[in-house]
Amino acid sequence: MSVIYERVALIGLGLIAGSMSLAMRRAGVAGEITGYARSAETRTTAHEMGLVDRVCDTAIEAVKDADLVVLAVPVGAMGSVMAEIAPALKAGAVVTDVGSVKKDIFASVLPHLPENVEFIGTHPMAGTEHSGPKSGFAELFDKRWCLIVPTEDSAETEILRIEDFWRALGANTKRMDAEHHDLVCAVVSHTPHLIAYTMVGVADDLSRVTDQEVIEFSAAGFRDFTRIAASDPTMWRDVFLSNKDATLEILGRFTEELFALQRAIRMGDGDHLHEYFTRTRAIRRGIIDAGQDTDAPNFGRNSDAS
Ligand code: NAP
Repeated sequence: MSVIYERVALIGLGLIAGSMSLAMRRAGVAGEITGYARSAETRTTAHEMGLVDRVCDTAIEAVKDADLVVLAVPVGAMGSVMAEIAPALKAGAVVTDVGSVKKDIFASVLPHLPENVEFIGTHPMAGTEHSGPKSGFAELFDKRWCLIVPTEDSAETEILRIEDFWRALGANTKRMDAEHHDLVCAVVSHTPHLIAYTMVGVADDLSRVTDQEVIEFSAAGFRDFTRIAASDPTMWRDVFLSNKDATLEILGRFTEELFALQRAIRMGDGDHLHEYFTRTRAIRRGIIDAGQDTDAPNFGRNSDAS
């Protein structure tokens, strides 16, 4: 594959940026990749691993002469990072973020955008519960969706270019506006994470079930909640603080449905439960048919009960 951006700067060197660097190298779409992270510890680790071509001591140094700048820091840090790098961006550069929320990021980033620089939001819908420079891998984005969220001012040629870029990294791309992005993500990602956090918190509070029992028997469904609930606390704090409206809307609906199911259990209304679970089973089928998960029992794990 040919080079799409001659110089790419990654601000933040965690799971997403690290995976992007490895996927860029695999695809051969970047000439030089520079990187910067806040702590000296992360920068040293990234340097020792050779995660990017050049680890820089400042964000300004990393973005100098970059054609594409990727903001891969927690959502709450996007605005201040953009303010810091803005004066150093080259004319004609494209800045993108990979944050899990868009409206709030646009509000914090766009006021700092220089006239001659493009901004296009992107969100790879791929991740793990791990974070930091050692957690990245080149295949993270393969066959996963990357949502492309242009601003009203984004140039079509640059939108097409960044779509090509993400497809070269293995992802499928889909365009949507910021408001819709935030609602979709509240449904498929943010609220499920909150529910997982809650369920794990409840189990932890329940003194009649011992910690040992929770751990021993966790394969019976609970384990997948614990995996999600182990996600990075900073990242997820920022997601909920910044996607407040959409998450609260979906949580309101969730609570209503939960009460309806609670009532069905109390009243012994088996028809309601059966009908509900039949509908949800069809949704799972749709996810498998769309190639977004495996049909293998127990998510393809080779042991344990489900
Ligand atoms: P991560 O592994 O925790 O990495 C975050 C990186 O940002 C670290 O290198 C950190 O540096 C750096 N950083 C934090 N604050 C900074 C600042 N003020 N200036 C410069 N660097 C700073 O996080 P991640 O999972 O890659 O997430 C990055 C972004 O991708 C987030 O906005 C998240 O919403 C989004 N995202 C995440 C996932 C997922 O599942 N993880 C999926 C899609 C999108 P230090 O190590 O020095 O602190």
